[in-house]
Amino acid sequence: MLLSSNDYLGLATHPDVVQAAVRATEQYGAGAGASRLVCGTLPPHEHLESSLAAFKQTESALLFGSGYLANLGIIPSLIGQGGLILADRLCHASLTDGCRLSGADFRVFRHRDSAHVESLLKRRQSHRPTLIVTDGLFSMDGDLAPLPELASLAEQYGATLYVDDAHGTGIMGPTGRGTIEHFGVEREIPFHMGTLGKALGSSGAYVVGPRDMIEYLINTSRPFIFTTAPPPSTAAAASAALAVVEREPERRTRLWANRQRLFDGLQRLGFRMTSTVSPILPILIGDAAKALAFAEQLLAHEVYAPAIRPPTVLDETSRIRVTVTSEHTPEQIDEALHAFDLAGRATGLF
Ligand SMILES: *Cc1c(COP(=O)(O)O)cnc(C)c1O
Repeated sequence: MLLSSNDYLGLATHPDVVQAAVRATEQYGAGAGASRLVCGTLPPHEHLESSLAAFKQTESALLFGSGYLANLGIIPSLIGQGGLILADRLCHASLTDGCRLSGADFRVFRHRDSAHVESLLKRRQSHRPTLIVTDGLFSMDGDLAPLPELASLAEQYGATLYVDDAHGTGIMGPTGRGTIEHFGVEREIPFHMGTLGKALGSSGAYVVGPRDMIEYLINTSRPFIFTTAPPPSTAAAASAALAVVEREPERRTRLWANRQRLFDGLQRLGFRMTSTVSPILPILIGDAAKALAFAEQLLAHEVYAPAIRPPTVLDETSRIRVTVTSEHTPEQIDEALHAFDLAGRATGLF
């Protein structure tokens, strides 16, 4: 049983999503043939960008080949030498790499600690261009950034907030529009990015926001300009997935019910977890070798959830990152809990 995928809604194998990819391939070919600004922009790309803007209720959207590329491309367009970046200590590696590439000074703040952000903002030279960077839903901890507080600090101190909602897109918020919808801060945070390869079951990434911001990125973001456009199939699949997110809310209902069943069961067994509020349920082990041994025991009991170790997570915080999807059955979750119990005992975790 697979308990580590980010395909939270099972959309990678949804018949409509698969069929959209097949149709787009038949109609437009396997590849886009050129970069977006030369002649690689095809109807599926344009359709996806307008669907994303409508889904997010923003003026514009722009597609990137991947989330990693989007962060490498967007952050250096927003800030450069002389600027200051404040980033959550646990933000995703692609955000860290984008920050480094920008040439701005780079400081980390304590995980989810908006008071720490404020003290760093107060200490900087006034009017220095400043970018606050965070995940919306943290990929390795399953917890949420304090977006309302960060948005109001950004406003108060004249900084820009950059949110990466790779994991929140499709699952968070009453209609799956993401962590920004979850907090009801769409108006305060119109500009943000997310990916298409997790709950949307496809591949690629998006950034949404005001038209002038998107136009600016089209003209400055090198990983958008100097790369072949994503295949028409992945763009068409992502558009179809957005339609399913709207049309089949029962997938989110099942996801959250499954999440609760697994979370309650793991807690009852006595596992130590992060302060997660999402379908990402990290079991904290600490020692990397012990985490590997636990993952091996789980696999021996037919549960696949590999150990996550440094440098993906901080030293001594190795963990098993368990994720659950809408497609698991309650019976499967109970079987998995039995496997966790046996593997935990065999590894000497309790
Ligand atoms: C997965 C992830 C990315 C990278 O997205 P890809 O499309 O897989 O390159 C970026 N940011 C966060 C927070 C992620 O979880």
